[in-house]
Amino acid sequence: MNLNIKDTFNKILPADPDKNNTRRQVHESAFSFVTPRNPSDPQLVHASEEVAELVGLSKADITTKSFLEAFSGRKVLEGTAPYAMCYGGHQFGNWAGQLGDGRAINLTEIIHEDKRWSLQLKGAGATPYSRNADGLAVLRSSVREHLCSEAMYHLGVPTSRSLSLMLTGDQVLRDMLYDGNSAYEKGAVVCRVAPSFIRFGSFQIFASRQEVETMQKLVDYTIETHFPDIKEKGVEGYLQFFSEVAQRTLDMVIHWQRVGFVHGVMNTDNMSIHGITIDYGPYGWLEGYDHGWTPNTTDRGAKRYRYGQQPQVALWNLFQLANALYPLINEVKPLESILERYKVNYQKQSLQMMKDKLGLVLSDEGDGNLIGRLQEVLHQTETDMTIFFRNLANVPRDMKIEENAEFLNPVKDAFYQPEELKGVVLEAWKKWFGLYLKRLQKEEQPDEERRVKMNKSNPKYVLRNYMAQLAIDAADKGDFSIVEELYSLLKMPYAEQKEAEKWFVKRPEWARHKVGCSMLSCSS
Ligand code: AMP
Ligand code: MG
Repeated sequence: MNLNIKDTFNKILPADPDKNNTRRQVHESAFSFVTPRNPSDPQLVHASEEVAELVGLSKADITTKSFLEAFSGRKVLEGTAPYAMCYGGHQFGNWAGQLGDGRAINLTEIIHEDKRWSLQLKGAGATPYSRNADGLAVLRSSVREHLCSEAMYHLGVPTSRSLSLMLTGDQVLRDMLYDGNSAYEKGAVVCRVAPSFIRFGSFQIFASRQEVETMQKLVDYTIETHFPDIKEKGVEGYLQFFSEVAQRTLDMVIHWQRVGFVHGVMNTDNMSIHGITIDYGPYGWLEGYDHGWTPNTTDRGAKRYRYGQQPQVALWNLFQLANALYPLINEVKPLESILERYKVNYQKQSLQMMKDKLGLVLSDEGDGNLIGRLQEVLHQTETDMTIFFRNLANVPRDMKIEENAEFLNPVKDAFYQPEELKGVVLEAWKKWFGLYLKRLQKEEQPDEERRVKMNKSNPKYVLRNYMAQLAIDAADKGDFSIVEELYSLLKMPYAEQKEAEKWFVKRPEWARHKVGCSMLSCSS
């Protein structure tokens, strides 16, 4: 196994001088050196050949002992110095102070084909930032992170990747529902891969402690290493940097809305400076189209991180980042106008994204209304988001709307309660389809052309919550075949995969209220 190791973060930025692995507040340092924990009996569950290739490893490398040792935490790679990053964050709207990599350990950075990648273990033991927790991860959450990172990538959503998923051979105690019922679960480690794991909170921690000089070092490093197109120095460069982060964050969230992904914990410590999805925890996928849905049981009261709120929360988080960067900029106006531009671009991009989902190419002043009306009617009876949009592409534009519900046949598989398709609900659908068909007739594109285009925006396969749970239940018994099957399936989420029709169905009723399928906690 031969990696092109090129560490910078732990060489250029200020290190915590204390090398002991004791829990503490760490000042004026970007990270602390720490050695991963040696697992008692590591076993490879699954590795992504594609991510291996990305970092310069071959298919053969994956099966070697050195791969197992490096990515389970057993052995430190030669020429590297693993570390945990210091960061803070706003959790559920409140400043939480120092958080940091409590159970993530950065192994190294590598360069392959001119691209820099950071390799990070999640679940490899305690660090100075572990506070009162153990630094470990369980199989359940690790399967979810491994499969979802790769599924998101193939959906075209900016995301961290996942190289490998391993069992540690150790047992981990978890109170999954925070209800006093702790139980042992299998421990696991995932190796995640991203340009870096720098977060909004990485800057916030220094701003909160008035360690402006250290923050400036981190900003300068981030721009030089990861935003090389920004040539300006000083205030102008910092503003460009913030503007770029804002735009990338918006692009990411628009993709989330498009595919129905709900992150679940959009705290500022979980927001990547690269605008990629990171920290897969109690995330979920919309099944019934519902702006008010959140997968995270911890957020069930306020629903701060519900689907419909994600673009606004991202903006709120950017506001916090602007506050942190302010001491380097000392001007409010230009920061405000970047945040204003987010709002304007959000309106534009959101409209475009919905038009793509509906197969509309031309501009029409009624499009905003058409989309708004659709969102209303989708909420009237539980309608599966993925199936509805995917099958909408099969509606012929010369379809006739009769008195009965037959016109809904192309999308009928999307309805969880078909018996509700009568009275006012049926009327609302009739009206909406009337508008939609009229609108389609203004387009020049033939049905087939529109179908092909729509199918590029509307995935056929996503990692439904119950699908991940089936993979977890089997993996827990030592059967990794569903992990493998879903990994392969989700590599081509937009393709018709005839042999995989069983995964293109509504959430089964048994999963409606099942833990892990509709209810997820932060316990992982
Ligand atoms: P999260 O909500 O998963 O992003 O985690 C918030 C903070 O808690 C981060 O600083 C994590 O590193 C830390 N954390 C979460 N789980 C653990 C754990 N099992 N052990 C130590 N730290 C943890
Ligand atoms: Mg996190």
